[in-house]
Amino acid sequence: MSAFFVGIDVGGTNIKIMVMTSDLDVLDWCVVPTQKDLGYEKISDNIIHAIEKIFINHGLNDPEVKSIGMGLPGIVDKHANKTVHLAYMAWNGFNPCKKIGAHFNAPSFIDNDGSLNAFGEYKFGVHEKFSNIVLLTLGTGVGCGVVIEGKIFRGSRNLGAELGHMQVEVEGAENCVHCGHPGCLEAYCSGLAMEKFALRQMPNFPTSILHQFIEQNRGVYDNAMITKGVQVGDDLCCQVMARFIKYLSVGVANVMKLFNPELILIGGGISNAGDVLLKPLAESIQDLVLHERQLCPVEKAILGPHAGMYGACAFAADSIA
Ligand SMILES: [Zn+2]
Repeated sequence: MSAFFVGIDVGGTNIKIMVMTSDLDVLDWCVVPTQKDLGYEKISDNIIHAIEKIFINHGLNDPEVKSIGMGLPGIVDKHANKTVHLAYMAWNGFNPCKKIGAHFNAPSFIDNDGSLNAFGEYKFGVHEKFSNIVLLTLGTGVGCGVVIEGKIFRGSRNLGAELGHMQVEVEGAENCVHCGHPGCLEAYCSGLAMEKFALRQMPNFPTSILHQFIEQNRGVYDNAMITKGVQVGDDLCCQVMARFIKYLSVGVANVMKLFNPELILIGGGISNAGDVLLKPLAESIQDLVLHERQLCPVEKAILGPHAGMYGACAFAADSIA
């Protein structure tokens, strides 16, 4: 009988689930809506059902699950294997993977989702070619994970390297939605921050192509419009992108100074801007580091939104090694 690892990445909208063989080859994966209003018991049942469906689809009626790893958005006490404070859901003070583990008669382990994203990129994105990498996920917020010498960097209380909340502007005009402090990287370099700034500036640029883009999209703004606008030289879009890059380069240069990684990966919706973002970013970082030996490539994340479930599988395996 074969044995398997299960990785679960819990997000505010979707839960991604992956099953790997004991050799860490992907058996299959699926996505279920989070439906957080259903509550812990029902959500756990939905996840169990989705995992069983994967096994059944592969003709496995009584598979052995060796261990289960779960990434959660927020503060996790890894040593106690329980949550401290999560974003999106009130699952605090316990192990939200417990019911699923009990069902499959397997140990279950939880960790911060940003850390598991980075671990997934390290193991299955760059295939351990580099052992020091940092992932910055520029989505609604700024997620992050740090892998040092092939291991997740956690700090003493699993709160290490909250890079989204490093200050990049001391007297920041923008307050961070999450921590409330002024000048956090997240307040300038998240998808939400880009959107807020662009919409605020629009009245000052009545002829900007952004007005047309939004109109053509039934009145709905999308950050991808800024990239398109930069490509045709639109003033507003260029200013929005330049401001974004100015603050991101401070953040990324700080990451280089702190960790001296071999590679920094940028994930999240904003990373789809590709070279429009990454080329000028690389240029402006050059002036911000201590020495050119601190510089490393900054590239688009490889697994992107799938990294979390890969990382959760590898974490499940590592936790019983
Ligand atoms: Zn903050």
